[in-house]
Amino acid sequence: MEGLDEITSKTCFQYNKVQNISILGECMASAEIIAIGSELLLGETQDTNTHYLLSKLRDCGIDVFRTTMIGDNASRISKVIQEALTRSDIVITTGGLGPTIDDPTREAVALSFGCNLIFDEQLWQQIYEYFKKMNRNPTENNKRQAYLPELAAPILNPVGTAPAFYIYQKDKLLISLPGVPMEMKYLTEETVVPLLKRYYPENEIILVRTLHSYGLGESVIDELVSDLEKTSNPTLGLSAKFGQIDLRITAKGKTFLETKKMISDFEGLIRKRLGINIFGSDDETLISVTNHLLFEKGIQLDTLEINTNGSFSAVIDSKNLFRKAIRIDDTNAIPSEVFFEQHVSKTDHPYVAALMNHKDKSLNFIHSEIFLKTAKSIYQKERSYNNLTFSAEQPVLLALEFIRETIINEANS
Ligand code: AMP
Ligand code: MG
Repeated sequence: MEGLDEITSKTCFQYNKVQNISILGECMASAEIIAIGSELLLGETQDTNTHYLLSKLRDCGIDVFRTTMIGDNASRISKVIQEALTRSDIVITTGGLGPTIDDPTREAVALSFGCNLIFDEQLWQQIYEYFKKMNRNPTENNKRQAYLPELAAPILNPVGTAPAFYIYQKDKLLISLPGVPMEMKYLTEETVVPLLKRYYPENEIILVRTLHSYGLGESVIDELVSDLEKTSNPTLGLSAKFGQIDLRITAKGKTFLETKKMISDFEGLIRKRLGINIFGSDDETLISVTNHLLFEKGIQLDTLEINTNGSFSAVIDSKNLFRKAIRIDDTNAIPSEVFFEQHVSKTDHPYVAALMNHKDKSLNFIHSEIFLKTAKSIYQKERSYNNLTFSAEQPVLLALEFIRETIINEANS
């Protein structure tokens, strides 16, 4: 068993070796993430750790080309770690650091690096003290958590009992983090990100901006921006959901300002081509954008809904509603002219938005009609949705976009 002094000097030695990573110079570092846990493969737990780490690595300017999900089996994990280390500079694992037999990460890492697991007395003292602070007694099992691969330096975990660790060897960095998302996030913020930023300082900055469009199909957008999709920096990727197409711009640069300018120039090109069809960016949604527009223009809507379960007025901010929304459910199809005459055209209020869904049983589709009365005119829009894939969100988004587009068009006319 090692004495405290030996462990401390080993830890410092590891640390110094990591400091040398900066000699990687201008190389762009690449990383892989390995999410460990049989519960992930069984579909019981969603792998949110990979999702979180991907955005952190991106912010550090580190490329990720591949991630892996693997069950709690030491020999399979060790093979995956070895493979990942042949491809990438950095490998980050999450999970499998608990105190039980089925927590195989320590053993798997030791197998990958061909070293032993060694009991770390200093680490054990820290785990012991953590338990005492929580008024709990550690069990014999918890001692397993004080064993680390011989080559590893501990990353202390003040928010849990599972210590993390890292190994830097032959220009490769392996970091093993606990699976509990709160602990993993804390250690990433506090230790991993500063470690990566410090030791990979020459890396480029990667910035991402996502523009949201509605109303144009993916293939139409693809045609409009096809040349921009072929550039290597920035890059442009499209992804579709419920009539909304996202355009994701990713740029790499040396400084934040330079990269931000690359993104905004590229965004300008896209906006020129898609115009009003871009409704927002990043965290904005059709709901937030349309509500904001209504508020900004001081427009209050009167809403009427038929067969929508009230889902449309539910997303309109109460300060943008003129009076209590009218909602009629479970009606048989009402002819739209009757609906229009009775409810929309006759109201005195200048802004009335009405949404009406009815089922066509023979054709298996839901037909949605939207009426919008403004101070200037009356507009109507309709669309049919496949009954099998229909979601109440679809006509609601259509209605919001119709309102947004109409208000902007009227203001520009
Ligand atoms: P472990 O460190 O493997 O003992 O994991 C502890 C707990 O963290 C598990 O029971 C899961 O609930 C959670 N967990 C493990 N891996 C992940 C992951 N990749 N994403 C989200 N939660 C996870
Ligand atoms: Mg586990």
